[in-house]
Amino acid sequence: LAELFVPSTLEAAVERLSSDPRARPLAGGVGVLLARALGAATPERWVAVGALDELRELGLDGDRIVLGAGTTIEELAEPNTGVSVPGLLRAAATSVGNPGIRAVATLGGNVVAGGAASDLVAALVALGAEAEMVGPGGIRHVPVEVLASGGPPLRDELVRAFRVPAAATRLGWQRLALRGAMDRSSATVAVALGSAGARVAVTFVANRPLRLPSVEADPSPASARRAAARDVEALELFGDDRASVVYRRRVIPVLVERAVSAAFAMAPP
Ligand SMILES: Cc1cc2nc3c(=O)[nH]c(=O)nc-3n(C[C@H](O)[C@H](O)[C@H](O)COP(=O)(O)OP(=O)(O)OC[C@H]3O[C@@H](n4cnc5c(N)ncnc54)[C@H](O)[C@@H]3O)c2cc1C
Repeated sequence: LAELFVPSTLEAAVERLSSDPRARPLAGGVGVLLARALGAATPERWVAVGALDELRELGLDGDRIVLGAGTTIEELAEPNTGVSVPGLLRAAATSVGNPGIRAVATLGGNVVAGGAASDLVAALVALGAEAEMVGPGGIRHVPVEVLASGGPPLRDELVRAFRVPAAATRLGWQRLALRGAMDRSSATVAVALGSAGARVAVTFVANRPLRLPSVEADPSPASARRAAARDVEALELFGDDRASVVYRRRVIPVLVERAVSAAFAMAPP
């Protein structure tokens, strides 16, 4: 039987995680149940963090939108606060699972459990988001691209929030799911074109979220497909039950071309 500790503050949660090496954070529990159903060993001691006020912040801090790690995916898909959730993140959230899952699964749990196999990570990486990590040593900021490439955060650290540049961007989003509703993506592409340049992120195709440097250097609808083909040729992809490496190398450039074209079709910010 698992033990659950319900802290009343972020400080108490961090204290428990650092004093008990066997305890792990628990948010919506969807990722944990999925891991258990797939046969992964899961800890017996949990610290419930999803409902902590400190992880539920939604607001603006200077030029950053702050999205608490305990924000549910439903709240991202259909925000009813005054905070403007970037369209790319709303598109990603809408594509996750089903309404029941979106109502309880959190942004933080999705990023930590999903890593490179997450729709939200594609959006956050394209937007240039950072994770705010809190541990016994204090606060540090880590690019989501790094967090999702290196596995879970340090053992006694929590993700408190994500900080997303608020500057307006033109956005493109493509998600390839072969079997329709509730299907995991075979390749997700997120494109953000802003005044600081272009960022293109791909997830579900490798053991880390990928960026496509040739497309980012010349993000035009006319050249995006060829540039993406060059990029994916040089990157290590994996094959799985959804798509082979050869198929992914062929389909990613098509998705990138569509996403870049969609971004260009938007009015400039
Ligand atoms: C049927 C199904 C369909 C799905 N479809 C999609 C999909 O289409 N696209 C997609 O991207 N995802 C999909 N998912 C994944 C789902 O979105 C994640 O499993 C979910 O968001 C995890 O969030 P959670 O709050 O339930 O995390 P939990 O299960 O509570 O935690 C997951 C992991 O994250 C850690 N953790 C949680 N919060 C924090 C924190 N604040 N700081 C540090 N560590 C933390 C926990 O310790 C644990 O290791 C699907 C899942 C299911 C079951």
